[in-house]
Amino acid sequence: MERPTWAPEDVNVERPSVARVYDYYLGGSHNFAVDREFAEQVMQAMPDAPAAAQENRAFLRRAVRYLCGLGIRQFIDLGSGIPTVGNVHEVAQSTDPTAEVVYVDIDPVAYAHSRAILANNPHATVIRADLRQPAGVLADPKLREHIDFDQPVGLLLVAVLHFVPDSDRPADIVAGYSGAIAPGSHLVVSHMGAEGLDSSQDQALGLYKRSSTPIVPRTADELSSLFGDLTLVEPGVVRLSEWRPESPDEPAARENPALAAVARRD
Ligand code: SAM
Repeated sequence: MERPTWAPEDVNVERPSVARVYDYYLGGSHNFAVDREFAEQVMQAMPDAPAAAQENRAFLRRAVRYLCGLGIRQFIDLGSGIPTVGNVHEVAQSTDPTAEVVYVDIDPVAYAHSRAILANNPHATVIRADLRQPAGVLADPKLREHIDFDQPVGLLLVAVLHFVPDSDRPADIVAGYSGAIAPGSHLVVSHMGAEGLDSSQDQALGLYKRSSTPIVPRTADELSSLFGDLTLVEPGVVRLSEWRPESPDEPAARENPALAAVARRD
């Protein structure tokens, strides 16, 4: 396949990536034919996939606004994706232009595009790293330039923990981050749910299962157990659209089983 001029050298254009497939669901242009083919297969099984992605983004923005309302002014967005409308730095810096944001993603396209759009933003940066290595991520000098670990942090794991299988010990990964952040910090999570799936959602999950990046759906109880000693804030682990809706106009995918939660470090 021909490599678009904007594609980084080390990107594999023959294999779909979750970052670029998700970009396609959101109407972005940083995806390749192989990503679009995979996304179209998923959308054939589950036509609501783009609406579900929009619903996830709406939750992310609500959660960041909620944390800004609590006075949090620094964010680490783990598995941040390819920049799209309403990125974390845009939401946070609309409250406070000096809010600090560090994006972390393993995907070369997500990294390159984030770097390009943040080039003139002194309060935001991106690092390319594997979030399954909390110690390495937290020690990154670029991250430490922006984040003061004596102050509360908003830590985001939005639509990404379901790519971490149990064998990679997701609870230990979360603990690796939550143990390093100051009291008053909050963790924001969205995650594919495992309860009440209909046949179209099962079919879509089957497609991911056969890909190189399977999704591991988890129940609300399983997701709660990943929070360790953090305290869930109201309304707890709920479906995306039920997490502190701000208006009835929030986009909602019909019967989206994805879960959302925010938890506090006391
Ligand atoms: N968080 C964004 C959102 O919710 O809109 C993007 C979600 S997208 C579905 C998942 C992102 O997680 C992709 O950009 C992917 O590259 C990234 N990702 C997956 N596994 C990762 C890992 N082990 N380390 C860092 N990033 C990862």
